[in-house]
Amino acid sequence: MHGVERVWEALRGARRLLVSTHLNPDGDAISSELALDWILRSSGAEISIVNQSPYPDPYRFLPGIERIHLYNGDSYAPFPVLVALDCGRKNRLGDFVGRIECGTVVNIDHHISNDQFGDVNWIDPKASSTGELLLELADHAGVPIGPELATCLYTGILTDTGNFTFANTSPRCHRHASRLIECGADPAEISRYLYRSRSVGKLRLQARLITELHVDEEASLAWATLTREMCDDAGVSITDALDLVTIPLSVDGVDLGILFREFDEPGKTKVSFRSEGDPDVSILARELGGGGHPSAAGCTLEMETDDAVAAVVPWVYDRLGRRSRKPTLAMLRMRHPKGLEA
Ligand code: AMP
Ligand code: MN
Ligand code: MN
Repeated sequence: MHGVERVWEALRGARRLLVSTHLNPDGDAISSELALDWILRSSGAEISIVNQSPYPDPYRFLPGIERIHLYNGDSYAPFPVLVALDCGRKNRLGDFVGRIECGTVVNIDHHISNDQFGDVNWIDPKASSTGELLLELADHAGVPIGPELATCLYTGILTDTGNFTFANTSPRCHRHASRLIECGADPAEISRYLYRSRSVGKLRLQARLITELHVDEEASLAWATLTREMCDDAGVSITDALDLVTIPLSVDGVDLGILFREFDEPGKTKVSFRSEGDPDVSILARELGGGGHPSAAGCTLEMETDDAVAAVVPWVYDRLGRRSRKPTLAMLRMRHPKGLEA
C-alpha cells in the first residue's frame, strides 16, 4: 500500500488522537498540525494537539491556532493514535510524549533523515514540506479544501520553501500553491502576517546579529551567535528569533552559514546549518548527533554557546578542508569536538 493509504487506514477510524510536532516548531510544523485537525474535523474524532515548545508569534493568525496546547505537565488519558508531523525522530517531539500512553504511532514527514520511528510511516523526501503531504492526504480522504485548510497548507509550503526560493521549490509545490490560492488562501495577507508585521525590537535584533556576524570570505563560511541576552535586550522571545537563521548564508560568496543559539536552559546550544545543498549539511549535523536536509540541518549540543562555537567552527573548517588566512578566536581555541552528542 502507498504511504498515504496506510496513513489514512490508521487515521480514519480513530476516535481519539494526539497530534504533535518537533521542538521549536516552524511554519510547516504548526501549519501541518492545524491542517490535519481541519482534515479530521468532520470525522468527529477527538483531537488533541500538544507541543512541548511554543510557536513563533507571527503564526497566531493561522485558523485554529487556539487548538494548539503547550504541554504544561497535565496528565492525559491514553491515546489510541499518536500522529507525529514534520519530525525526523521521536525524541524531537520532546520528552512529554514519554509521559503519555499512546497506541499506534503515525509518522508523516519529508526529512530524508527520518528514522521511521512510527508504526505507520509516510516519509517523502521529495515533498517540499509536510504541508504538501497533508494536501495529498486531504485529497485521498475526499475532504474538500476550504479557506482555513488552504491557508494552513499554503503557509506550510510557503515557509518550508523559503517563500518559494529554496532548492525544494518544485513545479509540484507551485501547482499546489496555485490550487490553494483558488481554494481561498490569501498570499498577500499570509505574507503580511509573516513578513511585514515585525516589531521594532525584532528588526533591531536582526541588525545586531548582522553587525556581529563572522564572515570568512576566504573559506566561504559565515556564522553568528544568538544569545538570550541579545533577545532580552531587544524584547524578543528566542522562539520569535528563529527565522534569523538564514542571515549567515545570505552573504555573497558564503556557501555554508551557521547559527549558534543559546537555549533557555543553561548548558545547551542549538546549532543550525544552512547551505544550498553543497556542502550537504545533513551530513555535518548527523555527525554531531542531529539531522535534517542537505540544505538545512541542525543539532543540539550539551555545551555553553561560546564552547560550542569554539568547538564546532574549527571542526567545520577541518571537516570541509577549508583554510582561512585569518584564524578566528574560535580557531585559536581549537579543540576537536569529540563526543559531541545531541
Ligand atoms: P533548524 O536549524 O532548527 O531550523 O533545523 C533545520 C532542519 O534540521 C530541520 O528540518 C530539522 O528537522 C533538522 N534538525 C534540527 N535540529 C535537529 C536535531 N537536534 N536533531 C535532528 N534534526 C534536527
Ligand atoms: Mn519543520
Ligand atoms: Mn517541514
